[in-house]
Amino acid sequence: MSYTDIAYTVEGGVARLSHNRPEMRNAESQELLDQLDDAVRKATADPAVRVLVFDGKGEHFSAGHDLKQGAAKRAHFTVEERWAYEELHYLEYALRIWDCPKPIIASVQGACIAGGFMVANMCDLIVAADDAFFSDPVCHTLGAAAVEVLIHPWVMGARKAKEMLFMGGRMSATEAYRIGMVNKVVPRADLETETFAMAAHIAKAEPFALKLVKRSINRTLDAQGLRTALHAHFDTHQLSHVTEAFKGARDRGLANAIKKAKE
Ligand code: ZN
Repeated sequence: MSYTDIAYTVEGGVARLSHNRPEMRNAESQELLDQLDDAVRKATADPAVRVLVFDGKGEHFSAGHDLKQGAAKRAHFTVEERWAYEELHYLEYALRIWDCPKPIIASVQGACIAGGFMVANMCDLIVAADDAFFSDPVCHTLGAAAVEVLIHPWVMGARKAKEMLFMGGRMSATEAYRIGMVNKVVPRADLETETFAMAAHIAKAEPFALKLVKRSINRTLDAQGLRTALHAHFDTHQLSHVTEAFKGARDRGLANAIKKAKE
């Protein structure tokens, strides 16, 4: 697969997977998600790669799913078509990030919204620039039940997750650090250096030990019901795509939804 919407490089045991549509605030098109998934599989299979870094070229990590492309290609999907599309592109791809046997660090600056929030939070660690902000506004903007993968309560606790989704607002990097959702906040100018220093340090550890410890921690969360809860929410989210409220938001158009998000 040739990469048009992401950039992929490997150096010193670290694979770098970059959202690469800076002119579109790194909106996640179908191509971008397909390519990111292909790169995750490639990095997983490559014995030279010990750690993965997800980042975004330009000012933002990612403003979320490419809603313009969605409106053009998928606005009138049947329940069955949307289910199949979202199960593969959102749920399966997200779980592939979660299940990758190698540590993954998300390096986040600027906007990290909805679909972008979902991808960043499937990673094991998050390093945030001081200008980063996190948001999932879709209850307000689209009448949808959050994004497809409800990782929120697992990375910030139930009360904060409810606040984020009910209010639809932005969470700053400082607040995300305070509640334990991100591991480190650094000045914007130092984001790349700090992220790759962390990756290089992790890359010194024995890969098989890292694989086992990641598996054990993820299994702890599975024992608490993470995977069952994610699958259950996916079904619920699909229901929210066929409500009158959602159809109303779709018919009022994308510009309106974006305007609402900015308010
Ligand atoms: Zn959806």
